Amino acid sequence: MVSDTKTLSTKREINWFKALIQLQAAFVLVVGLHVCIFQAQWKTIFFGLIVVLIGNLGVTAGAHRLWAHHSYEASTKLKIFLMICHTLSGTGSIYSWVKLHRLHHKHFGTDLDPFNPNRGLYYAHVKGYCLHLSEAQENAMKDIDDTDLKNDSVVMFQYKYYWFLFVIITLLLPVNAPAEYWGESIINAVTIAGFVRLSLIFQTCMLIHSATKCLGLSPGEKFPSDTNLVFLFNKTHWISYHYLAPWDFQTGEYGKYGHDCTTIFIKVCEALGCATDLKTVDSKTVRTALVKSVDEKKSIASCLYDLHMEEKRIKDNIFRPSKYF
Ligand SMILES: [Zn+2]
Repeated sequence: MVSDTKTLSTKREINWFKALIQLQAAFVLVVGLHVCIFQAQWKTIFFGLIVVLIGNLGVTAGAHRLWAHHSYEASTKLKIFLMICHTLSGTGSIYSWVKLHRLHHKHFGTDLDPFNPNRGLYYAHVKGYCLHLSEAQENAMKDIDDTDLKNDSVVMFQYKYYWFLFVIITLLLPVNAPAEYWGESIINAVTIAGFVRLSLIFQTCMLIHSATKCLGLSPGEKFPSDTNLVFLFNKTHWISYHYLAPWDFQTGEYGKYGHDCTTIFIKVCEALGCATDLKTVDSKTVRTALVKSVDEKKSIASCLYDLHMEEKRIKDNIFRPSKYF
């Protein structure tokens, strides 16, 4: 089906609904800053920040690392918790987010990538979100495997009742709390715990798609990411590494490899017994993958994945290939 994609239009029309949300988000950030400084109680500001963190966790630990890349397995209780956190983020359903993210990974840096970083930071961070998918992208989307999502009752529950959950969890509960529990004015609660919070979550979540532009390697700086050794020599440029081994649960969306809040959260969940099968790779395996890549003339990404699966087979004596990149 992807071969037909070449003949289809890559033109993308503007999605006015999303574009107006973006405009509104930028506006309320400015108004919200004024409200934070001159009107709101510190409890409301603190509460707003906590809700931003929880919403982000739903996207990073939930939609991104668990559902999009299967970098670990989660118990049903943890999935429900992450689904609620994700709903709080107001970034659409997990099902839609994951499919779009898989399309982004599969066609990274091409016209089929809805957040193509080669078209600049503005496109990757904002504009790509404000446009409808092109005919070619819609067609490519048909090839994105979503059977795991359709078989996940938590994901499909959220998908089916998304707008109901959105009104209750995303809008009413966070806005009600400051007014109900510490007497914040309704206008301040709506501005900070509503608009500003959603705007901040949106900006940080879009960074997942645009971070490679701000923090990754640019072609002029180094060799193409699939042929350089950055991760082996130092654990910087982690974002480029994510496109080599998206199944590594330690790849942070906003910062350091292995030391970000989401990674710590997943490790705590593992200690509590609700997260299992945490996938990662050590430097020795990376070194072996590099040698294998040269010897067998294969990409580093596929060598890393093959070695990881080989180690897993030895460890578990079970072969369970994952195809959700
Ligand atoms: Zn990813």
